[in-house]
Amino acid sequence: MLQAEEGKFYKHMTEKRTEISELGEFGLIENIKSKVKLIHPRSIYGIGDDAAVIDNGEEVILVTSDMLTEGVHFDLAYTPLIHLGYKAVAVNVSDIAAMNGIPGQITVSLGLSNRFSVEAVEELYQGIRLACANYKIDLVGGDTTSSRAGLIISITAIGYAKKTEVCYRNTAKANDLLCVTGDLAGAYIGLQLLEREKQVYMANPAMQPELEGKDYMVQRQLKPEARMDVIYELRELGVTPTAMIDISDGLASEVMHLCKNSNLGAVIMEDKLPIDEQTYEAAREFNLEPLTCILNGGEDYELLFTIKQDDFAKLRNHPDITVIGLMKEPDAGVHVVTKAGNSFPLKAQGWVHF
Ligand code: ADP
Ligand code: MG
Repeated sequence: MLQAEEGKFYKHMTEKRTEISELGEFGLIENIKSKVKLIHPRSIYGIGDDAAVIDNGEEVILVTSDMLTEGVHFDLAYTPLIHLGYKAVAVNVSDIAAMNGIPGQITVSLGLSNRFSVEAVEELYQGIRLACANYKIDLVGGDTTSSRAGLIISITAIGYAKKTEVCYRNTAKANDLLCVTGDLAGAYIGLQLLEREKQVYMANPAMQPELEGKDYMVQRQLKPEARMDVIYELRELGVTPTAMIDISDGLASEVMHLCKNSNLGAVIMEDKLPIDEQTYEAAREFNLEPLTCILNGGEDYELLFTIKQDDFAKLRNHPDITVIGLMKEPDAGVHVVTKAGNSFPLKAQGWVHF
């Protein structure tokens, strides 16, 4: 019989309990991490980055998992299963991209309640297969189990990189340029649009969704892409980021991760933050501050990375990479300079699932 540390086996049921919400997702992971020691000689990096890094000679193997649960990460009222399958793969590939790796394989684990038919599972796998074809990866296994609480989909992705290519979160340097790919806040606004249409539909099922002219944001929410295109382009340009992370929880949260892990400060310029015009307009229609949506809206799956200033010339003309700020010494803190020239400290809100 295993004995729980510091007490009885069923300690968690009988003694004082701390709510997970007190720690939050990041606090909980920190707690888990603090009690785990790596003992295998090939484990180079464990908990704390976008993927684990495992020694394989000249190369490393990258491993990452992401789980999506019904009612928390997706709502099947407006999420077609084919999109869900695609997205579940893309978000995992995004974590491999964030390590500057190339994905190779995935495993897919499903929890299914009896609401789901064979045809529904087939539609989900259509999306998974499309993503596999698109990212040139193989589905090599998984697990299937029943669930009492709807659909759970957990994917593990395996990727590869040369040791010298791997990009961690903790290796940015002061005066490095902070860059993002693509544009931000689209997925968050897409979610607001879909939620609004769901409410309208529930009030009156005869109403048709009003999503005309909003397809970009809806696509950003329902069918995000991992930025493997940028990973390949950076290689062609001969640029290795000094640090990298993907933007799953909103820009603020990810900038804070880079700064905390690299023990640095940073300054971000609001007027440099990339947002699509449709997204900007839709944010205003919702009475949302576009800057807040960029900083705290999640699920864009763009890449946030730092480069040496010497590499700037190589990226200057890249249409999909924007320099948004500068890494600073730690005592400078982490600030946003607004269009009006005011500066305010950045706070990471991220997503609160608990
Ligand atoms: P990402 O947003 O890039 O997927 P997460 O914030 O989910 O990253 O996870 C951060 C780190 O914590 C990763 O290294 C991940 O593997 C690790 N992690 C998350 N949950 C657990 C867990 N339950 N047990 C062990 N490690 C975990
Ligand atoms: Mg990540």
